[in-house]
Amino acid sequence: LVDLRDVVKRYGPLTVLDGVSLSVEKGEIIAIIGRSGSGKSTLLRCVNGLEPIQGGAVTFAGTVVNDPGTDLRKLRQQVGIVFQSFNLFPHLSVERNITLAPTVVKGMDRRAARELARTVLRKVGLEEKIDAYPDRLSGGQQQRVAIARSLAMSPQLMLFDEITSALDPELVGEVLKVLEEMAADGMTMMLVTHEMGFARKVASRVVFMHQGKVWEQGPAAQTLARPRTPELETFLSAVL
Ligand code: ATP
Ligand code: MG
Repeated sequence: LVDLRDVVKRYGPLTVLDGVSLSVEKGEIIAIIGRSGSGKSTLLRCVNGLEPIQGGAVTFAGTVVNDPGTDLRKLRQQVGIVFQSFNLFPHLSVERNITLAPTVVKGMDRRAARELARTVLRKVGLEEKIDAYPDRLSGGQQQRVAIARSLAMSPQLMLFDEITSALDPELVGEVLKVLEEMAADGMTMMLVTHEMGFARKVASRVVFMHQGKVWEQGPAAQTLARPRTPELETFLSAVL
């Protein structure tokens, strides 16, 4: 579904992705780990075309993302992304946050859109909050609405960038549970996470980024339990 080939990303003199190659099959759940500044967020942003690249190629479902002719708006309908900060529109209800894109981009009528909002809110366990405003929700609930909003576009791939990092510890679990359910539904996901326990449990593969490179990757349990490189070993002993 996703293929990165020798991707190079630079900011001025700084090389942030230094020849990254990575393939993701449909249904895979990839946990991306690594130190701050190793290029994890940049990698995700390249997948849905938020970052121009200086070398290599990014392909999603047969479409070359970095081709200047690619319709990125269309691509982003199929690739959902959720960030650490919830990015909900504060002046819009939960329903409108979710239905804005389906009504504006896909031309869905309001009634069908409200039904869709209900369906995706049910998936994140928040159906009763459909008419609430974001400031009346906890951080965990806001993040679940942000996920529901992405799901409303029926993406083929979901990208998650440290979506639990800004949450109080007691709210992390409810968000991870939603991800687990999406995983069980067969959603393809790439997630940057510091939750090693979660990565071990849910991810099919762990990708360790170091100095802009895929330094090491492999099946989650094995890679986390028996790192092959000293860099991953050092990283894991620092976070565990
Ligand atoms: P963290 O765990 O802290 O989120 P990360 O692995 O996600 O780190 P990136 O955000 O991908 O790291 O950043 C990789 C490098 O690129 C860092 O050195 C960062 O300072 C640099 N960088 C990121 N965005 C920009 C930008 N817009 N302009 C210049 N440098 C940038
Ligand atoms: Mg980051």
